Amino acid sequence: MFCRIASDPEHDETNLVLHRAEHAFIVLNLYPYISGHLMVVPYLHTAEFDSLPKEISDDLMDLAKRSQTALREVYTPSGFNLGMNLGSAAGAGMPDHLHIHLLPRWSGDTNFMTTVGETRVLPESLETTYSKLRARF
Ligand SMILES: [Zn+2]
Repeated sequence: MFCRIASDPEHDETNLVLHRAEHAFIVLNLYPYISGHLMVVPYLHTAEFDSLPKEISDDLMDLAKRSQTALREVYTPSGFNLGMNLGSAAGAGMPDHLHIHLLPRWSGDTNFMTTVGETRVLPESLETTYSKLRARF
């Protein structure tokens, strides 16, 4: 899925791609835990974080920082979850193509790690989240 989105820039809006950099891009999670749940993804198809070339991991971290700024401006959350699930055993839904999750958090919402994968009702549509965040990049 990430490779298909990466190679299809004409459909960034349909695919909910928020921003593209040289080595990585930012895309909304289609199955968000919470509104604003996004992912930073390298164009390179790989599951191996520790062997990523430095220019790619630098791009991932730069985009994660920009994403945090955008989420803070749009949602003013109380905190953030930022992280990667590497491998199916660690909970990765797309274990062959690594990606960083970043999502806003508020006191009193449910713990991220125990609720990933559940369907839940969100306060706004993905399209609304997309247009709010897209304007910040
Ligand atoms: Zn891939």
